[in-house]
Amino acid sequence: MAEEKSGMLAKEEKTGLPSGFYSVRMRASMAGRHLSGGEDLLEEEGLESGIHRLLLQGLGSCDRSSRQELSLSIKVEGVRESALKRCALLPVRQLASDNPETTRSFLEEALRALLKEKSGASETARKVLEQVRLFLEPGYPAEWGATLMSSSGKIISLPDGGVRTSHIGILPTVRKQLMEEAQSAGITGRRFPEALMLATKVTAHPLVLLEVCLSDDPGYTTGYIATQKTGYIRLPHLKPEGHPGGGRIYLLGKNPTRSEILELTLSLTKQAVLFDSIMSIAPPSSSPDLLDHLSRETE
Ligand code: AMP
Repeated sequence: MAEEKSGMLAKEEKTGLPSGFYSVRMRASMAGRHLSGGEDLLEEEGLESGIHRLLLQGLGSCDRSSRQELSLSIKVEGVRESALKRCALLPVRQLASDNPETTRSFLEEALRALLKEKSGASETARKVLEQVRLFLEPGYPAEWGATLMSSSGKIISLPDGGVRTSHIGILPTVRKQLMEEAQSAGITGRRFPEALMLATKVTAHPLVLLEVCLSDDPGYTTGYIATQKTGYIRLPHLKPEGHPGGGRIYLLGKNPTRSEILELTLSLTKQAVLFDSIMSIAPPSSSPDLLDHLSRETE
């Protein structure tokens, strides 16, 4: 303890700033349209390079020629060590699929397997699938946050239209390890770490049963379904190539009271969660193999 404390003091003396974490959140938009967002929890030593990385991400969200129209903000907030939760990322599995039909039918069966203990399970699964279909309906309004759904499949209306999970971050060494292991399992790109962090934070909340996500990036057709018990399952071809629709559903394990909804949204939007370790990242598996895992793990 004394050693730990003196280590902390040494760090403070070196940098002139208190040791601890900072939440850094970037948002880029153009003419009121959201273009890109990103965030991290950074220690003072990594603050400058972390801000630079997010700045480049925001600047890269539009063509150089339209940068004069870009509005980009970066917010830095200190986070007290005592207010920081640390946890491991969910284990990752991948569906082997080369077409939307296989993926949709897996999603349908996975929902049934995950909800099997619940009363009205098939009706709830139907409502989740209906919401997924609606996200892809032409003209469906782009959502800012996730759609909250009660266990009976009813959409819970929220003042901001949805809940936007925030205040997540990952230790730099763990990010590196995650990227390396993801790459060996055939997963590349910048979206995956952020999606895995969001899904882990969301499904760790005791009220949340599962999350389904479809990106609204027309060039990114991979989605996921995640639960705390069964992990994060990547779903390639969840939507057709070039489709601009997308969204997230947080399905709750009960029909919540108002105060439970308030506590949930507060926790998802404000509680700082730092990911300090990863779990397994499996190569793609066939739909029957994955469903078999799901049934066994939900027993
Ligand atoms: P993306 O994966 O960034 O393409 O986002 C897909 C959809 O998920 C968006 O249209 C939003 O509805 C929702 N979404 C994006 N980021 C968040 C977040 N941090 N928390 C909750 N929902 C989000």
